[in-house]
Amino acid sequence: MNLQKRPKVPVTCMLNINEIFGPTIQGEGKLVGTPSIFIRFANCNFKCQGFNVEYETPSGIKKVSCDSYYAVDKSFKNEWLNINYKQIINEVSKLMPDYKIDIVITGGEPLLYWKHEEFQDLLKYYILNGHKVTIETNASIDIELDKDYHKNILFSMSVKLSNSLETLKKRVNINTITNILKNNSESYLKFVINEDFIEKAEEEIEDIIKKIPICCVYIMPLGNTNKEINTNCESIINLAIKNGYKYCDRLHIRVWDSKRGV
Ligand code: SF4
Repeated sequence: MNLQKRPKVPVTCMLNINEIFGPTIQGEGKLVGTPSIFIRFANCNFKCQGFNVEYETPSGIKKVSCDSYYAVDKSFKNEWLNINYKQIINEVSKLMPDYKIDIVITGGEPLLYWKHEEFQDLLKYYILNGHKVTIETNASIDIELDKDYHKNILFSMSVKLSNSLETLKKRVNINTITNILKNNSESYLKFVINEDFIEKAEEEIEDIIKKIPICCVYIMPLGNTNKEINTNCESIINLAIKNGYKYCDRLHIRVWDSKRGV
């Protein structure tokens, strides 16, 4: 039995959405370059202050978090939409091209909504209508994969290492990672690494992958700008070559830096 403290699930809302945008390309992971529409859920059970992206809240307080701080920090909640799945589908339909574009469910941490019926209705709608659905998650939350359509979800599991400054107990949930890989063998792990964290990252990744089923491991350079990616990328490439991981660039940052909604 997993005794991890379950994060608070926003049960009183319909679905909290930070932004819906596209068509654009998936910038990272297995499907990099694939045209996609993104649905970004608000709320996260982590802060990842170690990723050191500086920002200012609407009331002018300076903080650090990850590059999706506006979906994580509740100070931005006035910018979030509280809508049902049909309203999301309606918003997405305004962006839909004439082909079955991929749908990327991202965050924040979208699995906070897993038990919410509206969230399941949203997944089911796109999967049954022939869209490839990716969920980008930190894979820390227990979920049940008991519906047929769950088998069609690609989970891009961005499991956090200690450079996120989250605790080990919180950030690595071996049960959830294993459960996802057993049900969705195409799903994969993705780690964000900075140049001065290489040795520790190698140890921590090894420690995780020896406890889970075999899967693809992608490693990506930390950075919210092209310049930061350039600083970190060569050592990450060398780490990938050394261990047989796949190097994954961050194409959207290469092209658009930290610009939102593209
Ligand atoms: S888990 Fe992801 S979205 Fe949440 S704080 Fe960390 S990097 Fe940001």
